[in-house]
Amino acid sequence: MPIEFLKSLDFRVSNTCNFRCRTCTPAASSALAKDWVFISKEKNVEINRKAFESNEELRSYLSPVWSQLEKVYFAGGEPFLQVEHYLILEELIKSKRSSQVELFYNTNLSVRGFGKHDLVEYWKRFPRISLSLSIDGTYEKGAYIRDGFNWDHFKDNVKYFKENVSGLELFYNITVSNFNGLYLPEMVRHLKNELGASEGRIYFNPVSDPAYYALNNLTADLKDKVLKTLIEASTHLSSPLKERVEAVANLINRPNDIKNLKAFQQMTKRFDQVRGQSFRDVFPELSSLLK
Ligand code: SF4
Repeated sequence: MPIEFLKSLDFRVSNTCNFRCRTCTPAASSALAKDWVFISKEKNVEINRKAFESNEELRSYLSPVWSQLEKVYFAGGEPFLQVEHYLILEELIKSKRSSQVELFYNTNLSVRGFGKHDLVEYWKRFPRISLSLSIDGTYEKGAYIRDGFNWDHFKDNVKYFKENVSGLELFYNITVSNFNGLYLPEMVRHLKNELGASEGRIYFNPVSDPAYYALNNLTADLKDKVLKTLIEASTHLSSPLKERVEAVANLINRPNDIKNLKAFQQMTKRFDQVRGQSFRDVFPELSSLLK
């Protein structure tokens, strides 16, 4: 479709990101790409990826649509750290369109702005802001899976944006892997009790690629343990979260290939070595996975 007719934009302008999540890819995170050089031993890892060579190129590409956009969706890398994201907000404000544009984000919520750019100041000009917050664990488990994450800092930022942004909607998006399947009930409890998250706003996004992080890539005894934990937890939840937990539990008994378990062991050991972390210390209940 010619760009002149666009009303909604899904924007991923670069892989700029300050986090190095284990289940992410270098194509989506510049910080992870730097690690990847050591972890994968690949020689030609592209660290910084950008969709546009310059701000001028981006501005001229979108100039036909400023006055007609209704929705813009920003995803990562981390959009709050991308200058292109602020440029788009500025152009929408300049063209007097911002009061009619809804903004959607996928974010790690680690910052409240970038340099001179203050998110709250920009968002005052827009009617509705929806944030899909990526969180794969709380406390040290969250920090292990999502290097850069800090649970207390995350909670402070949730509270800050709730207090300062009108028209704000928050969703909690958990990437489900073999790291965190066992701890989903604990995470749901923390989100509800410490952040006041309603069950309906908690979503699961199971990893399928790479297969070595998929939830079914567990040993038989661990599959059994995770399955029982999730089924038991689902009995205390209401719809629709109850069905979402059951759907995740259904993934566990899918067949797995021993090659995936070996790849998990190899990758986890390499990441631990490069980052000075210990899978066994953070996830003692899963330590048999590394045997
Ligand atoms: S915050 Fe998002 S883009 Fe950044 S490393 Fe994590 S998953 Fe990837």
